[in-house]
Amino acid sequence: MKVELLAITPDPERLIELAARTCYQSAGGESSTPLLPRLLASGHLSPFEHASATFRISGCSRAMTHQLVRHRLMSVCQKSQRYVREDSFDYVVPPDMAGPLREEFAADMETIRSMYCKWRERGVKKEDARYVLPNACATEIVITANFREFRHIFTMRCAPAAQWEIREACMLMLSELNRLAPGVFADLAREFGAQNRGEKE
Ligand SMILES: Cc1cc2nc3c(=O)[nH]c(=O)nc-3n(C[C@H](O)[C@H](O)[C@H](O)COP(=O)(O)OP(=O)(O)OC[C@H]3O[C@@H](n4cnc5c(N)ncnc54)[C@H](O)[C@@H]3O)c2cc1C
Repeated sequence: MKVELLAITPDPERLIELAARTCYQSAGGESSTPLLPRLLASGHLSPFEHASATFRISGCSRAMTHQLVRHRLMSVCQKSQRYVREDSFDYVVPPDMAGPLREEFAADMETIRSMYCKWRERGVKKEDARYVLPNACATEIVITANFREFRHIFTMRCAPAAQWEIREACMLMLSELNRLAPGVFADLAREFGAQNRGEKE
């Protein structure tokens, strides 16, 4: 899986702070605690909606993106199986099917590939032939969300209860956003970094 940051609001923390200070008509200096952690702690989250980021995720499965697109406050563009041929589709191998089971899994994928090609050769449109394709089918997706929504997505999808592939994608996005806006994401990066390493926070 590859996760690339395509765009981010310039100087996002400054913009969030500026929006929040508009609410209080304050210029800063009134507290020794930085403003962003105070906003997070108090649940004053609307200022975080003014900053956003766009990622491209590729080499991931449709099983993963099916979960990701459930997040309705996110904008999405995804590779179409109506318009793009899948006769040589790539696929994601779950870790539990790697190792000695990998060959059997690859043979299953080959069977599905020949099923897809059979229907295409019979003149069936891509939009219908795709009905035989697997959840493992590799895809590419571009998503945009504001920082409030990214915090929500990470809270749900970086937790150990989340499925491994969406957790991997979200941990990579969290790491990138934490690098560029630690005032917004450091608490989540700390919490989920530790949890995913099996440590207690
Ligand atoms: C571990 C796990 C297991 C899951 N298992 C299943 C499953 O078996 N089956 C299944 O169908 N889904 C499952 N889901 C998906 C889950 O139910 C949500 O659909 C998905 O995580 C999107 O979350 P959300 O609605 O909070 O997010 P978003 O769509 O990103 O929304 C963000 C927030 O906006 C608010 N919001 C958005 N839309 C509305 C609305 N229409 N009305 C009121 N408030 C709204 C809510 O506060 C919401 O939390 C699972 C998720 C997880 C993390």
